[in-house]
Amino acid sequence: MSITQLDKTYVAGTYNRFPVEIVRGKGSECWNTAGKRYIDMGTGIGVTAFGYADDEWQAAVTAQLGTVQHTSNLYYTEPGAKLAQALCTRTGMSKVFFANSGAEANECAIKVARKYAADTKGGDHHVIVTLENSFHGRTLTTLAATGQDHFHTLFQPLTPGFVHTPANDLAAFEKVLDQHKVAGVLFECVQGEGGVLNLTDEFVQGMARLCADRDILLMVDEVQTGNGRTGKLYAYQHYGITPDVVTTAKGLGGGLPIGACMMAEKCAGVLGYGDHGSTYGGNPVCCAGALNVLGRIDDALLDGVLERETYIRRRLEGYAVTGRGLMLGVTCTKPVGEVLAACREGGVLALSAKTKLRLLPALNIPMELLAEAMDVIVAALK
Ligand SMILES: *Cc1c(COP(=O)(O)O)cnc(C)c1O
Repeated sequence: MSITQLDKTYVAGTYNRFPVEIVRGKGSECWNTAGKRYIDMGTGIGVTAFGYADDEWQAAVTAQLGTVQHTSNLYYTEPGAKLAQALCTRTGMSKVFFANSGAEANECAIKVARKYAADTKGGDHHVIVTLENSFHGRTLTTLAATGQDHFHTLFQPLTPGFVHTPANDLAAFEKVLDQHKVAGVLFECVQGEGGVLNLTDEFVQGMARLCADRDILLMVDEVQTGNGRTGKLYAYQHYGITPDVVTTAKGLGGGLPIGACMMAEKCAGVLGYGDHGSTYGGNPVCCAGALNVLGRIDDALLDGVLERETYIRRRLEGYAVTGRGLMLGVTCTKPVGEVLAACREGGVLALSAKTKLRLLPALNIPMELLAEAMDVIVAALK
């Protein structure tokens, strides 16, 4: 049987995969079983920040593989300790909990908010406010956080205590805070899965102010927007706010599973011994890779992200383009499935978000490859 036939026979049918069997990649290019070459404008949904089989990342990961690949959290290991230090130094946060995915990082944030509120205000202040159209993960609790009804219908009852409010409507947000006993607010600065929709400065700064006034934890889901993706290390840094909790995953590991929940001083001590845990969380191999990724997201790299954004926007003149940095959504004039199929035909792998074309290339995609990919994408959109 072919890879496709085996997969269709034995793997649970939760994914509507594109008809491409990827067997090899290097940087921003990959090849299928037939030897056809693609330029990758999706990076495994914003994960392979420096592309496939990046030399430096691979060296960091394989060096760690050759010493200690796992110990459990019963022991100390260097990569996780150093990664936590690097994340705190770069963000001003005080402590990090390591998980293995974005959903798990958000689960941790929700636990922090509920325990913080219970410690400071009593256990009835348990509501978590999230935004309509948001996406926070696939576990039953992060599905409850996700503000899209179609994710909810099949899996009732979901975890209670979540309230959704429209994005970019500060008056509605304030009303929700008045009407509920709120522990925390969780939001994406750019709603990725929801259609690459940007939150306004006024809304984000307004939420930050209202939460600070009421001692409600302000929690930013940077699973997709984080780690240089939008042209800052974390997207909240565009808004001049200081969150209480920042979650991230996807691009942090460069292709290995890791999630992180960062906590500011105010709530750094909320989780104590036994309050949370993970067998794999902070795995040394994943952390060694993440440490390499994080170390390379410097000002020069971020300038390169913005330079590439400018180039893409110029090539897409006449189309409505949303998002920020190298997380961009393009309004299509025909079904996005047809645009993606034309891209594949032309040798480009891209993504969709709702009805939009979504582009999440490697942060360091070479300009020549980007130009070549944009030729195909511009033609595919026509
Ligand atoms: C992808 C994503 C998640 C879920 O991450 P997983 O690693 O798939 O659990 C959560 N939040 C946002 C904003 C995401 O884009």
